[in-house]
Amino acid sequence: MAVVEGAPGVSGEPASQASSRASCVVCAFVGSSVERRIFFLFAEGLGEGWFVDAMRRGGFCLRHARHVGREGGARLAGACRHIVAGWRDRLARAEGERERPPASACPLCETESWAEGHALWLLAGPDRARAAAALGALEPLCLAHLERLLGLAGPRQVPQVRTRLRELLERATATGLGLEQRLTILIGPDPDSAIRTGGLGGLAASPDAPSTSWLDGLLSAEGFMAELAVGRCPACTGPAALVRRLLAWLADPGLRPDDRREQEHLCAGHLRDALAVAPLAAERALAATLGGWVALVERLPTVTELPAAAFRARARRLGERYREERARRPQRPGPLAAAGAALADLLWPAASVERAVARATGQRAHPCVACGVMAGAAGRTLDLAGALLVAAPAAERYRASGGFCLGHAARSPALLGPEPRSVVLATARTRVARQLWELDEAVRKSSWSVRYEPRGPETRAWIDALVLVHGDQVRSAKLLTPEPRERVAAA
Ligand SMILES: [Zn+2]
Ligand SMILES: [Zn+2]
Ligand SMILES: [Zn+2]
Ligand SMILES: [Zn+2]
Repeated sequence: MAVVEGAPGVSGEPASQASSRASCVVCAFVGSSVERRIFFLFAEGLGEGWFVDAMRRGGFCLRHARHVGREGGARLAGACRHIVAGWRDRLARAEGERERPPASACPLCETESWAEGHALWLLAGPDRARAAAALGALEPLCLAHLERLLGLAGPRQVPQVRTRLRELLERATATGLGLEQRLTILIGPDPDSAIRTGGLGGLAASPDAPSTSWLDGLLSAEGFMAELAVGRCPACTGPAALVRRLLAWLADPGLRPDDRREQEHLCAGHLRDALAVAPLAAERALAATLGGWVALVERLPTVTELPAAAFRARARRLGERYREERARRPQRPGPLAAAGAALADLLWPAASVERAVARATGQRAHPCVACGVMAGAAGRTLDLAGALLVAAPAAERYRASGGFCLGHAARSPALLGPEPRSVVLATARTRVARQLWELDEAVRKSSWSVRYEPRGPETRAWIDALVLVHGDQVRSAKLLTPEPRERVAAA
C-alpha cells in the first residue's frame, strides 16, 4: 500500500482503542490521522514556524480547540499566546473594516480533510481491488462515506455501492439495535466521544447547565444583559439555548409527525448532540434521515440498468430510453429535452450514470435545521447588541462585563453601527491585553529557573484564552456542534 512510512493506513488497522470500535474505514483513518497529528504537535511541532503562523491566523477551530485542550492542557499556553496575539492584531485593524473575519487556519481541520480525501481517493482510485475489498464485509463504510464514494467511483462501481448501501440500511433499520449503534452505521463513530465522556479536562468545569437567562430559548434584552453579567458571551449562549429548545420540542412525545415535518433534518453533529440531550429527537431525526436514504437507494441504477458497454446494444435501447425520460417524475421533460438525454446516454454512457447519481443524491439533500437555528439566533443576538449598546447605561454594563467572545466581537464591524461597534471592540481589546499578560506569565513560570515562585491564576491562562476566543461553549461536553459559517447539510 502506498502510504507514508509510519502513517496510519487505509486498511481498517486500528491505531487506538477509539478507532478500533470504528465501523467505517474512512472514519477510522481520519480519527487516527488526527490523533497522530496531535501527538506530533505536542512532541515537536509547537515551536515550528508553520504552526506559529497558523495560530496567528486564527488557530484551532472550536471542535479541535477542545481536543488539543484535553490533550495538552497547560502546555498550550504558548500556542494560545500566538492565537490571542493574532486576534490583537486583527482587532486593531477591525474598526474601519467591514469585511468578514478570516476563516480559521485550524491545522487539525486540514488534517481531517486531507485524510478523508486521501482515503476516499485510495478507495475510488485506479486500484479497483482495493475498492472491492473496502466494499466487502470486512471493511464497511458508513452511509455518509459511501455517498461520498458514490460521487468518486467509476460508473461500473455504482451498483456495487448501491448494494452496500442497501445492506447497511437493512442493518440500520434492524430491530434490536440501539440508537447509538444505528447512528454509527449512518455517520460513523462519534469523533468527539473523548470530549463527551471526559470534557475538556483539568480546570474546565462543565458549563452544560442550560442558560437560565435565555428562559427556554426566549431571546430578550434582559437575557442578553443577564448573560453578560454572569460572564458568558450572549451570542454563543443564545444559539445554544435555541438549539436546546428545538431538540426538546422535537423530543416531545405528544408532537405529531405532521407538526415536526421539515423540522427534523439534522446534520451529523446535531444528531450526536440530540443523542446527548434529547434522545427522542435523535431517534425521530434518524428515522427521517433513513427514509431519505431508502429513497436514494431506489433511485440508483442497478447492474441491469447500467448502459450497455457495446454501442450497438445502447443504440437498440434508444427509443426505450426516450420513453423512460418522458415518463420521469416529477420533472417530466419535454420531447426535445428527453430526446437530448436519450442521445447523450447513447454517446456518453458514463455521463448518464453520473446524472442518475447526482439526481438521487440531490433529492435527498436537505439543510440541517439546528444549524440554521444557530446561525439565525447568533445573528439576532448581534442585532440586539446593535439595538442596546447605543444607550449609555447598557454600553456601560457591557464594558464592565467580559462582552462577546472574540469570534463574535470580530463580526461587529460588519454588523453594528459605529457606537455599538466601538463599545464591543474596545471591550475586546481590553480583555485581550489582560489575557496576553496572563499567558506571558504562564510561559515565564514554566521555566525551571523560577521554580521557587508560587503558582497562581496564570495556570489557567490557557483555558481562559480558549474561552475568550471561542466562548464558554469550548468547555461544553454535550452540545458540541459549532455555529456554522455556511449552510450545513443534514446527515
Ligand atoms: Zn465514515
Ligand atoms: Zn479544526
Ligand atoms: Zn460568542
Ligand atoms: Zn447541524
